[in-house]
Amino acid sequence: MKFDDYIIAEGIKKSLAKQGFKKPTDIQFKSIPSILKGEDVLAIAQTGTGKTAAFAIPIIHKIHIKKLIKQSNGVKCLVMAPTHELAQQIDKVFRDLSKHTKVSSYCIHGGVDRDSQQLKIEDGVDIIIATPGRLFDLAKRQILDLRNIEILVLDEADHMLDLGFIEDIKELMRFIPKDRQTLFFSATINDAIKRLAYDMVDNPIRIELSPKDPVSKNIEHAVAFIEMDDKRFFLANYIANHPAQKLLVFVRTKVRAERVKNALEREGVESITIHGDKLQAEREEAMRAFRQGDSLVLIATDISARGIDIPDVECVINYDLPESSEHYVHRVGRTGRGMNKGQAISFCSQEERPLLEELDKNLGKPIMRIELTKGEYALTIEAQKEALKTDWQSLLEEEEKRDKKKRKKKK
Ligand code: ADP
Ligand code: MG
Repeated sequence: MKFDDYIIAEGIKKSLAKQGFKKPTDIQFKSIPSILKGEDVLAIAQTGTGKTAAFAIPIIHKIHIKKLIKQSNGVKCLVMAPTHELAQQIDKVFRDLSKHTKVSSYCIHGGVDRDSQQLKIEDGVDIIIATPGRLFDLAKRQILDLRNIEILVLDEADHMLDLGFIEDIKELMRFIPKDRQTLFFSATINDAIKRLAYDMVDNPIRIELSPKDPVSKNIEHAVAFIEMDDKRFFLANYIANHPAQKLLVFVRTKVRAERVKNALEREGVESITIHGDKLQAEREEAMRAFRQGDSLVLIATDISARGIDIPDVECVINYDLPESSEHYVHRVGRTGRGMNKGQAISFCSQEERPLLEELDKNLGKPIMRIELTKGEYALTIEAQKEALKTDWQSLLEEEEKRDKKKRKKKK
């Protein structure tokens, strides 16, 4: 089935065509009819399979159709996401798809002052995309009226119902009508979280695509055994061999992110970081630079990259192994998105072997091994050290040449 054959607003079809989307992805094909019918949906599908448009298309259609006959102000749909960056990205999808319709969306994020947010909301927006904390704040202060909400979406649902967010979400529910449509979307979900989701709705339609192998089939992923102290050499060596590639590097903590950045710098490689200790403006700038390719190496922690869609990330490196298979799926899922193929490599040290065993068990099938002989291992480190030396040498030579020129000019 093509998008052309769907009974949805022509304006949406126009936008889909403009983006080159001809056919729905599997998750879009399965969820769009249910959402149009008004059913509650719990949808689990692999990373990068177009879940955002799977809810955005039917939501925009429903609101657009209603507005044809009934001018209604007030926010009708609320989409919640775990980070500002993801909220902004979802808002962009909504704006792109609703451009030729009567529907408007607005992303509420922390950086903007409350007054201008209030003005914008009073102006009348149909869909709000936000993180729970900020939203709760606005609802409590009665700046934001949520009594007309008809559709509630939790993107990255398992994360939204987890410890860090569940209290905010529960509080928020007090402001939202009970007889709404609720949609949960994620690539991963466990049984406990599923039960929490079921508690929030009556009888949701469950749509689960290939839950047995949660890693997207567009991703070739493997693990190499590299000791902690050698990881930086292997990372720098990988970058030296793929200088034009967009690379996303995952580490376990904020402190590690800065450390790896510094280690790379010593190896002569420029990189940027994104994590929870960074200011909102810094995080946005890092995302912008990486998206546009001004910076090719982004070092990130788990949370900061959930759901983020940068289509041309060719490789993900797990510099540290993630602590759970969910984190693994979301990390490697930053590559191989949409129709693209991607590659992911995990660096596993001796201390991390138990984590790897856990991952193998929970992922349904073991991660492929990259076997390095002792010779190859030593050679990579040697090569990297050597490359660094020559690099310094060429820099010094350049500097000398420049000096000579200057001296000549003075004469
Ligand atoms: P998910 O939320 O499932 O991880 P996204 O919604 O972020 O995935 O979409 C992943 C990528 O797939 C995006 O770059 C998006 O533009 C692209 N995409 C979505 N739907 C389609 C489609 N029907 N045809 C082609 N590409 C699509
Ligand atoms: Mg998503």
